[in-house]
Amino acid sequence: MRMPFKRQMMLCGYKNPRYRAYWGYSHYGVDISTIQGKAGDDHNVYASGDGTVYAAGWDNSGGNIVVIIYPACLNHKTGEVYDLVARYMHLQSIFVVKGQTVKAGDKLGVEGNTKTGDYHLHLEFETDTKWPMYSPQVSARDDWMDASQGNLLRKGVTDCTVNPSFVLHRGAGQATVRPTYNPAWLNAEDFIIPTKG
Ligand SMILES: [Zn+2]
Repeated sequence: MRMPFKRQMMLCGYKNPRYRAYWGYSHYGVDISTIQGKAGDDHNVYASGDGTVYAAGWDNSGGNIVVIIYPACLNHKTGEVYDLVARYMHLQSIFVVKGQTVKAGDKLGVEGNTKTGDYHLHLEFETDTKWPMYSPQVSARDDWMDASQGNLLRKGVTDCTVNPSFVLHRGAGQATVRPTYNPAWLNAEDFIIPTKG
């Protein structure tokens, strides 16, 4: 699974303790940006692998979101291989539609700040492909789930998320830049995402 951007800065890690202490709930994905810290000029979000778009559109909790199912993904930390749901949140614009198949490197949309404070991509992976729209991250935020909210995403009561830094690698032409953002929001594994051709 490739990184989502050509050049990017990791901002906040999976279940990072500082995040939980600050916001009062856990972080079930990673936050990555080309814009914060001026990591890169190409703000397109690229598909991590070959997959199928399960949902794409506006959600009152996650902003512009894309949900993709990627089959047979390798967790390079544990050696496990499983199908993964990927949820991309806060996009400025979306280039794909529900039902479309995507190839690794296809453009999914553009990094944005919809339904969040500052420009970044929230990317989370989960092994429970039977319930692709049920996000534990949405569940973590009660303020996202009043009657007017969550029109695409739903509260996920079961946490089947996977640490994105354990399934992502840097593909050809991809780079991460050193965080100028407070690195205490990152985990050790976020600094050692491996390279793969
Ligand atoms: Zn996030």
